[in-house]
Amino acid sequence: MKKIVYLDHSATTPVNPTVIKKMNPYFYEIYGNPSSPHQLGRSAKLAIENSRSHFSYLINAKPEEICFVSGGTEADNLAIKGYAFFNRSKGNHIITSVVEHSAVLNTCRFLEKQGFEVTYLPVDQYGQVDPDSVRKNIKPSTILISIIHANNEIGTINPIKEIGTIAKDKNIIFHTDAVQSFGKIPINVEELNVSLLSISGHKIYGPKGIGVLFIRKGIKIEKLFHGGPHENNRRPGTENVPGIVGIAEAAQIMHNTMKESETKIKSLRDYFQDELLYRFKNIRINGHPTNRLYNNLNISFNGLDSEILLLYLDKHGIAASSGSACHASNLEPSHVIMALGQSYQKAKSAVRFTLGVENTKDEIEFVLNILELFFSKNKQSW
Ligand SMILES: *Cc1c(COP(=O)(O)O)cnc(C)c1O
Repeated sequence: MKKIVYLDHSATTPVNPTVIKKMNPYFYEIYGNPSSPHQLGRSAKLAIENSRSHFSYLINAKPEEICFVSGGTEADNLAIKGYAFFNRSKGNHIITSVVEHSAVLNTCRFLEKQGFEVTYLPVDQYGQVDPDSVRKNIKPSTILISIIHANNEIGTINPIKEIGTIAKDKNIIFHTDAVQSFGKIPINVEELNVSLLSISGHKIYGPKGIGVLFIRKGIKIEKLFHGGPHENNRRPGTENVPGIVGIAEAAQIMHNTMKESETKIKSLRDYFQDELLYRFKNIRINGHPTNRLYNNLNISFNGLDSEILLLYLDKHGIAASSGSACHASNLEPSHVIMALGQSYQKAKSAVRFTLGVENTKDEIEFVLNILELFFSKNKQSW
């Protein structure tokens, strides 16, 4: 297969070979059921508990506050439905935002059908939630606030610490979806004032099908599944041992290389952005100019239908996306770009490039050349 220039790291990442090496023995050597009392079972159990304590250390949590789940989607569902169902006697109001990932948005929509009331806060032109609007929308019946840390489409980073402080002052539980930010921005659950936080393995060069929900000590949630007493009686089912070992290793590598990855990827992204702004007129960068993930470049090409460009890029071996991968089969414009106040046309023209550690300057040059070719063939106002 021709080598792919992969610029879709917010959709998923390749698994780091070191992570694969670490996972391998847990498929065919230490394959025991962690609940079994024999040697193989005990070894698997030990691997889980070591991973749990390593992982907890990285976000300044306690090991018993780490709940391994099947991914970011389950983490969001368990946080929001789990908290809402267990605590509905305290109130039925939830605050979230219009730019959440579908795992949060659709969970909230489901809860509305179950008798909960949900406020979807708007965002500013950069996609940020104003902490003041969170404060103003709190009512006596508010039990939960869920605001995304860094947006998966435009990379905008929300003022989570400020929102967390407001929630704490009002004694309201605060959840954040940190699937995109984890490993790129230091996360300390104490400093951020969060009680529930979602992480996914495959967005941090780890495996798919594994995630973490941080659940602050003392917080009671309703289970989504019923079965055995696994994961401190919060998530039944035989543990995904290789996945758990893999996500802990991937998280450790992200932690160890955080600074150097940022320096490398940010300089590539900035070069890409500067060249685009220099070479093409009538384009617009979506998301916050500075408070944005260093690997994100989301651009609206005025008058373009992004699907046509994406097909052209794909034909040349370049993988990018229009907004969220989860909506890739849906030709409606992104709900996130629409929320920035852009027209339907502009939203339909948004293309997302998300860079990763393996990208090179040569690859960016190649993409720039292909873009020039595309726009010279499709002469309009560019
Ligand atoms: C990818 C993603 C999810 C879903 O995670 P999965 O592990 O794919 O279920 C949730 N939230 C955000 C912000 C994401 O980018």
